[in-house]
Amino acid sequence: MGFGRRKDTASRPWRLSAKLLIVSSVVTILGFSAICTSVMLDMRHSEEELARQTLENLASGIDSDISRNVELFDLSLRAVANNMVAPELNGVSKPLRQLILFDQAATAKHFGAIQVFDSTGKLIVDASTLDPLPEDRSGEEYFQVHRDQADVGLFISRPMLHRGAYAIVLSRRITGEDGRFLGVVAGSIRFSYFHDLFGRLRLGADDIITVFRRDGTVIMRMPFDLDLIGKNLGDVPGVRRALSEPNGSYSGTGSISHSPRLYVWRDGTRPLVVLVGKPWADIYRLWRMEATRIGAIMGALAVFVLGVSLFLAREVDRRAAAEEKLEELATTDALTGLRNRRKFDASIEDEWRRAARQKRPLALLMIDADHFKTFNDTFGHQAGDEVLIGIAICISDSVHRAGDCAARYGGEEFAVLLPDSSPAQAFAVAETIRLKVEQWCGETAITTVSIGVASVLPDANSEWTAMVNAADRALYAAKADGRNRTVLAHNPKLSLVA
Ligand code: GH3
Ligand code: MG
Ligand code: MG
Repeated sequence: MGFGRRKDTASRPWRLSAKLLIVSSVVTILGFSAICTSVMLDMRHSEEELARQTLENLASGIDSDISRNVELFDLSLRAVANNMVAPELNGVSKPLRQLILFDQAATAKHFGAIQVFDSTGKLIVDASTLDPLPEDRSGEEYFQVHRDQADVGLFISRPMLHRGAYAIVLSRRITGEDGRFLGVVAGSIRFSYFHDLFGRLRLGADDIITVFRRDGTVIMRMPFDLDLIGKNLGDVPGVRRALSEPNGSYSGTGSISHSPRLYVWRDGTRPLVVLVGKPWADIYRLWRMEATRIGAIMGALAVFVLGVSLFLAREVDRRAAAEEKLEELATTDALTGLRNRRKFDASIEDEWRRAARQKRPLALLMIDADHFKTFNDTFGHQAGDEVLIGIAICISDSVHRAGDCAARYGGEEFAVLLPDSSPAQAFAVAETIRLKVEQWCGETAITTVSIGVASVLPDANSEWTAMVNAADRALYAAKADGRNRTVLAHNPKLSLVA
């Protein structure tokens, strides 16, 4: 049945709160997620800073140890180079010369014996023996460098096999008073020094320490890799930076192992530059575990909260639907499905005030079945009920607007409230209903209705009961006039429009 009922708004707060519940849960979850993400990002940044600091300290420590030893050894080389040109040395015995030259020379277990070669590369003095075996180093790079350039200063060789062990050779030029090239003084630092130094450090399994010569040649590497030692990595962008800037860091994949690392160097101005690297995976290991743990907890919490919210929202919706149903039952006439008297009284009150506020007319139809007692007596109460349902259908089929209210007023009487309807419009609706009922009954026309119509322009001082009385009087007039007709009320006292 299309009763054209007005949609009830009573359930809306419930609907709103169900939606609000879900929205607030989602916002809460998003808020907490944002806080967690921010905290996790802060933690990640701290881990990175801590790793950078640790690597800087490590690089600095290694760097200063190497530099100290190189400086110490260089001091000995300088002393020998200076003493070699001292005129007092001419004519002294070999043991005395040995004493003069090497008395203050640094000796340590990783330092090789200092040797002096003449201008042709022949070994002339060896700190370890008074009678050295003949040696010719004229083919060595360090000899040629000093021979060809006067201002090299301390020269550190590429890693090489020196006297049966891997070592780097440190050398200085011996220059005569007239600037002539007189020879080279050289000594070695064995790789055992680096092994010993790195062995004392506590490093991660994948940490890398590389010692470069200033031209990018790899002097030493930890973990030890013979293939890499002696190679020139000066073209690797990060290494190039490390050799040209005093200190800094970069992120990159190593030239050998391809896991991304954080590389840090300190004091890149010294003869040897130390670059230490740590895999990002190691730097973030603890953080990643923590982030996974917190992320999992957050995820579970979010699922739980969302689940509970959805469940509650469904419950709220279910309750809202039940309330709506109850509300509808409380305002509906059980037999005809139209609004009941209670609802009609509330509606007429509201519409009256609204019409008075908006200064718009309000119309009322009072509809009464004709000779219904006779019908009941003739065809029985059951058949009478069927007819009442039929009349209700005729009424609701004729009343379409959203604000209209069709109700069973009592017994075989119906009332229809038509807001914003002129007398002519209300009369037309009444006639439609009357004719529909007449048509529905067919040729027999056993049942007809009489309708009283009143259309009023309410004002603040008037009462709606006056409109009901007016419609009632019009209805009686219709009855008196022979029934099955519509009569429009006239009531000047109520400033009736009609
Ligand atoms: P009139 O044309 O003057 O209105 O005559 P009438 O017989 O319709 O008027 P009256 O008020 O004397 O009778 C109303 C009858 O409506 C009395 C009652 O038997 C019947 N009636 C009231 N409510 C119901 C109902 O719910 N079901 C049925 N079947 N009959 C009802
Ligand atoms: Mg009656
Ligand atoms: Mg009647």
